[in-house]
Amino acid sequence: MKNIVLRGFVLILTVALIMSGLLSAAIFSGEETKLQKEELTRIATIISRQFDPMQDHDAQADAIATVLHRVRVTIIDKNGTVTGDSAVDYSTMENHGNRAEIMDAKATGRSVSVRQSDTIGTRLMYAAIKTPDGSYIRLAKEYNDILGNLFSFLPAIIPAALISLFVSVLLANNFSRRVTQHITTMNDSLSRVKDGNTMLNPDDYPYDELKDMVTKINALALDISMHIEKLQGEKDKIAFIMDNMKEGFILLDNQQTILLINDSACKYLDCKKTVSGEHITHCTRNYQLLQAADDAMKCGENRSMDMKLDGQVIETAFTYVNPRQGMDDTGLIITMTDVTERRNAVQMRRDFFSNASHELKTPITSIKGGAELLCSGIPLDTEQRSELLTRIEFESEKMCTLINDIIMISRIESGEIMADREDVDFEQVVQECCAEVLPLIEQNNVMLNMELEPAVLFANRKNLHELASNLLVNAIKYNKFGGSVDVFLKSYANEVIFTVRNDGEPIPIGYQNRVFERFFRVDKGRSKKVGGTGLGLSIVKHVVDSMKGTILLESNEKDGTTFIVRLPRNDQI
Ligand code: ADP
Repeated sequence: MKNIVLRGFVLILTVALIMSGLLSAAIFSGEETKLQKEELTRIATIISRQFDPMQDHDAQADAIATVLHRVRVTIIDKNGTVTGDSAVDYSTMENHGNRAEIMDAKATGRSVSVRQSDTIGTRLMYAAIKTPDGSYIRLAKEYNDILGNLFSFLPAIIPAALISLFVSVLLANNFSRRVTQHITTMNDSLSRVKDGNTMLNPDDYPYDELKDMVTKINALALDISMHIEKLQGEKDKIAFIMDNMKEGFILLDNQQTILLINDSACKYLDCKKTVSGEHITHCTRNYQLLQAADDAMKCGENRSMDMKLDGQVIETAFTYVNPRQGMDDTGLIITMTDVTERRNAVQMRRDFFSNASHELKTPITSIKGGAELLCSGIPLDTEQRSELLTRIEFESEKMCTLINDIIMISRIESGEIMADREDVDFEQVVQECCAEVLPLIEQNNVMLNMELEPAVLFANRKNLHELASNLLVNAIKYNKFGGSVDVFLKSYANEVIFTVRNDGEPIPIGYQNRVFERFFRVDKGRSKKVGGTGLGLSIVKHVVDSMKGTILLESNEKDGTTFIVRLPRNDQI
């Protein structure tokens, strides 16, 4: 800025210098011409008084010219004929009666003018006086005004102009520095204002205009900082909500640049939040996702798909954002929701129904077959009839157990298990279960050992009964003939441990995790023979989970099979 001011000043000063020089020259030149004219007229008047018309005119002209420096003297008679001239041979000169100065002198007695000489071709000042005998004395001298002599003045003018210019530049530099110094100071202070550290002080500036400007800048800075604070608050609020969303959220502009991405989306796509501002390919290389985003954007339609990421099923929805009126700001919102559990539950339910129908089909077919045979009128002996009825009873019993188990599972899944809770004497429940399985014990010639401690749990009695009964029945069913079953119930301050151990074929290591799955059986044939449904351990696991407990299975050739159930006490749940 200082340089611009300086250049401006120098230009103005130069123009002013030239203009004032030319103007003074013009004024001075006018004055000078006027004085010269008066001087020449005065000389011509004096000469005309001494002129003797009777003497040789040419000789008189020469005589006068020798006295006057560089003045040409011409004598012209009343008819305009040149009768004498100090510069040229008068007899060769044409009639001068029509010369401007002679014509003026004829009318007024005297005349003075400046014009180009027709005879010698230079610029001359003429003064003509009419003498008493009617002749005219004309004096002529070379005359150039100041402008005409400008070149002869140049040696003096140029150094003077240069000195003036130099002094002007020094002064202009000094002045512009003083003017711009405050603006420079203001500029430095503005950087601090921008950083929010300080305000400008109007008293630091000498000019009223700057003081006014500083006051307005301060008000503006305050206004801006308040707005920024408000915007920051809003931004923080949105960021807080976004980052606490379980769902992943990405907002793209029409170039697929990420405008917003939350923590969950970063987690799903394994990228950092710094990808914001970059193209979507910076946060994922998942072809399926990129293709769907591209497609939704190009077609201006919504899309949805399931993505498999690290074993999770992520439902990804692409919502096309329509442009605002008169704007070109289309975009895309991508939301990502973990639906693994939901999808697994749907799959499990599907499998469950398919397995349950399959399981029910066998006993129903068997019952139907038996009943049809009985009703067909085919003659059957008593033994055959009794065999058929026993089969129908067995299959009905099996079906009944299966349906009961299915009802139990759906009851637990619906959350009913948490309802109807009370203080339950678990020891008494276990004793009841043992009493119920006595016929089975006898049938399998199994030896039952019990070590029970009093243990009260705040739980659903029916579910606890189901848990104990299933483990106990399995321990007898899958035992060897004449084997033993040990049942322990131990009560601690913060938990109750219920253990059931039995002899017999151990569960192979590879199946130990799977026995808790619905309808899973290690040996299908044996399970069916002993009336198993494949749902017993699944029910046990459900009950334990709902009580926030754990179940451990240990099974090997040497120690047999042991299930250890740890249930936290009421206040631990
Ligand atoms: P099921 O109705 O067939 O008994 P469960 O869910 O109760 O179904 O058990 C699943 C499978 O685990 C059984 O088919 C059996 O092979 C095995 N199993 C369960 N308990 C025992 C146990 N105490 N000893 C050996 N195998 C067992």
